[in-house]
Amino acid sequence: MAFDFMASALQQKAQAGYLRERQCVEYEKDGVISVGGQHYLNFASNDYLAMRQHQGVLQTWVEGLAQFGGGSGASPLVTGYTQAHRALEEYLAEKLNREAVLLFNSGFAANQALCQALFAASSGSNSLILADKFMHASFIDGAMGSAATLKRFKHNDIPHLKTLIADSYHQDCLVASEGIFSMDGDSAPVSDLVALCEQHSAWLMLDDAHGFGVLGKNGMGTCEQYDLSVDQVPVLMATFGKAVGTAGAFIAGSRELVEYLVNFARHYIFSTAMPAAQALATLYSLTEIEKPERRLALQKNIAIFRDLATDAGLSLTESTSAIQPVILGCPKDALAVSEGLRQRGIWVPAIRHPTVPKNSDRLRITLNSEHSQNDIQALVDALQLTMRDAIPCN
Ligand SMILES: *Cc1c(COP(=O)(O)O)cnc(C)c1O
Repeated sequence: MAFDFMASALQQKAQAGYLRERQCVEYEKDGVISVGGQHYLNFASNDYLAMRQHQGVLQTWVEGLAQFGGGSGASPLVTGYTQAHRALEEYLAEKLNREAVLLFNSGFAANQALCQALFAASSGSNSLILADKFMHASFIDGAMGSAATLKRFKHNDIPHLKTLIADSYHQDCLVASEGIFSMDGDSAPVSDLVALCEQHSAWLMLDDAHGFGVLGKNGMGTCEQYDLSVDQVPVLMATFGKAVGTAGAFIAGSRELVEYLVNFARHYIFSTAMPAAQALATLYSLTEIEKPERRLALQKNIAIFRDLATDAGLSLTESTSAIQPVILGCPKDALAVSEGLRQRGIWVPAIRHPTVPKNSDRLRITLNSEHSQNDIQALVDALQLTMRDAIPCN
């Protein structure tokens, strides 16, 4: 029968403890989510600064709806590109010290578009993409689907990257890494990456989905924090769905790069533009994020969590970001601990292979600026109890 493989693929996933199921959230308020009629403290959201529920963001969105309507009605090259989109692009370009910015409907689309446009079949065959092993699936899939040769260097391993870049012939080379890695919360060694790329005339691309909004003097992310120019990081990508609390993404770079993408990036050309109201709300959120209060509160909560967890004897990684993984090492254990936390009223997802490498199945705790010290204490207490009861892997 046609498509027989689906049933057996699902069965295999289930047997190995890797079957994924969605949980339907009934509502969310003040950091508490309701699922299946039960309430949980939410330590699973990328809404690091609690901007999703910010009154001003919501109000601006509503005003945008009144002004521009619900959807944008067309792709950006037809009539979907409005002054709201342009204002957001211009704000980002100025704050990031880039010549130009292009908006996308999602980070997934932006990464795919970039790879497809820069490494099209006609020009891509002399091209090389060197990507950190832990790059997001949207970039890796885009790179694999392109005409470039894709090689992956060991996570944050500059000597390995050096060998790969020296050994491979290429006309155009893009080195790709992330500002803050999504599943580990650690950062790329950006100054080493910049130096190596300069030495080999390669372009550095940073996916700053988790650094944007959180890092830097104005919350503009990794490039602001390290004062990285467009020459040092020619391709900067970040999303609005995490710290900014709305949705969508952008690519920032030279005017030429953006003009090229407008002409060749099919995800941009053939997709309905993001609603103008969403662009307005996103711009409002960015102007709020410029104020340091929420970012400082987040940093404080990260420190509180790490102190309490260390005192409780839990083993943490080196991450100093809002993403705090607790590595368990097998999928069943990760699920069991996640379930144990749930029974104690705390929502923390189990992240399993293939999202993370085999034997590094984990809990992914995410902190935000609005968690109270009591919330964090409750998390640590529940972790301590649940981990004690967990049956070790194997
Ligand atoms: C979330 C994420 C994306 C995808 O962004 P969306 O806007 O959610 O599609 C891309 N890269 C990284 C590192 C991410 O964390």
